[in-house]
Amino acid sequence: MIDLTTLTIARARKKLDAKEFSAVELTQAYLDEIKKKNKELNAYLEVYDDVLDQAKKADELIASGESHPLLGIPLAIKDVILIKGRKVSAASKILENYVASYDATVISKLKKQGVIFLGRTNTDEFAMGGSTENSAYGVTKNPYDTRRVAGGSSGGSVVAVAANLALGALGSDTGGSVREPAAFCGIVGFKPTYGRMSRHGLIAMGSSLDCIGQIAKTTEDAKIIYDAINGYDVLDSTSIKDTTYPKASLKKVIGVPWDLVNGEGVNSEVKENFKESIKKLETLGFKIKDIHIQNLDTALATYYIIMPAESSTNLARFDGVRYGLHKDGKNLLEDYKLTKGAGFGKEVRRRILIGAYVLSAGYYDAYYGKAQAVREILKKEFAKAFADVDMIATPTAPFVAWKIGEKSDPVSVYLADIFTITANMVGVPAVSIPSGFSKVEGKDLPLGIQFMAPHGGENLLFEVGKKFEEMR
Ligand code: GLN
Repeated sequence: MIDLTTLTIARARKKLDAKEFSAVELTQAYLDEIKKKNKELNAYLEVYDDVLDQAKKADELIASGESHPLLGIPLAIKDVILIKGRKVSAASKILENYVASYDATVISKLKKQGVIFLGRTNTDEFAMGGSTENSAYGVTKNPYDTRRVAGGSSGGSVVAVAANLALGALGSDTGGSVREPAAFCGIVGFKPTYGRMSRHGLIAMGSSLDCIGQIAKTTEDAKIIYDAINGYDVLDSTSIKDTTYPKASLKKVIGVPWDLVNGEGVNSEVKENFKESIKKLETLGFKIKDIHIQNLDTALATYYIIMPAESSTNLARFDGVRYGLHKDGKNLLEDYKLTKGAGFGKEVRRRILIGAYVLSAGYYDAYYGKAQAVREILKKEFAKAFADVDMIATPTAPFVAWKIGEKSDPVSVYLADIFTITANMVGVPAVSIPSGFSKVEGKDLPLGIQFMAPHGGENLLFEVGKKFEEMR
C-alpha cells in the first residue's frame, strides 16, 4: 500500500527511481482514491481512460534509465489548459464537447518529462469566480468540510491535491485563482511573474493578468513543477526572457500593509492567524516593516474593470461558429443570441456586459482609461515598496471558505480577492503557504499567508515558503 497522505513529488521521485513502486502502481493508487472520493468532492470533470497506459510508458522510460524530476508523476490539469486530442471546456456549456487541437506549451514541456495526466479539473466557468460555484458542472467541495466551497477558480485542481487525488496540479491565476483555493484547502498555490509561464494554450480570461500557476503540497513540489514549465516562449507575445532577481541585495525585510490587513472586511481569526505568522517570520530572522501602498485599497475595484474589459474581448470569439455550441436562429444575430444565451452562465454574461460597458464610447475614459491609470500608479508604488523590502506579506484571503450557496451577491465573492489581485495587477510573483487553521462549527478550516516578491523574484518565495513550512 502506498501512503498517499504523506507522499510528495520529491519523495515519489526517489521511490520511483529506487523501484520501491512503479509508476503504474502509483497511478493505480490515485485512480483508486479518485474512485472513492471524486463523486462527492467533484474535483475532476473527467478522468482520462488511458492513464495506466501513460504510466506504463513512464515505467518503460524509467527502466531504460531515463530520469526527469516529473517522470511518472501523476498530475491534474485545470480544465482551461489545452491537451491535444482531449476535451477542454473551461467548465462551460459553450465548450462542452470541444477537443483541443494542440498542446499548450506548458503541456508539451510536461509531456517531455513523462508526466502522467490524470484528468481535467473543475473550475468556475472560464475561471471567473472564487469558489467553483460558477462551474456549469457543479461545485467542488472542500475536503475539510464538504458543506463548504473549496475556493476557486482552480478549486478542482486544488482539491485534487489536497484530498490526495493527484500529486500536484496546474491551475490558472488571473486574480488569485490558484492562491485563494490553496489557502482554503491547506496547500501551496504559486503564481509566477507575469510572462514567466507561457500562456499559449491557456483559454484566455484577462490576458494582461492571466498566469499558469503551480499547485502542490509543499513549496519544494511547487518549485519542481515551476522549474519544469517556466521559460520564454515565442508563441506567447508577452512571454519574458530571464529576469531573475539579484539575490545579493537581500535585506531580510518583509513589508506588511497593515492598514489593509487591519481593515474592516478582514475576519478577526484571519488577523490573529496572520499576526502569529508574522511572529514566526521574526523568529526566522526577518524584520517586519509597516508599508503604505498608495491606492492599494482601489486595486480590487480597478481589477473588476480591467478584467471584464479583457474577458469580454476574449470571449467574443465564442460565437457559435468557430468553436463549440451552435444554436440555429433565423439569422446571424439570432444565432449569436441563442448560442451565447444557452452557452454562457450568469457570471460570464455579467462580465461580458460590464466589460462591453466600460470599453464603450463615452465610458471608456471614465472607467477603462481611469483603471489603467490606477494600475500604472500601483506598479510604481510596488516598485517603490520593493526598494525597501524583499517581500510583501498579507493573509491570502480575508475569510475562511464559505458555505456553498452562502454568498449570493457576486460582490461578496469578489471581496475574497482583496489581497491576491494586486500581484496580478502589477505582474509580480506570489505564493500562498498554509498558515494554520481556524475552528468553525467544530471543523478545522485552513488559512494561508501570502508572500509577494518583485518581478523575477520567484526564488525568494520558494526560500521563504520552505522556511515557513519548516516552522509549522
Ligand atoms: N476570483 C477572481 C475573479 O473572479 C479571480 C479569478 C481568477 O484568478 N481566475 O475574477
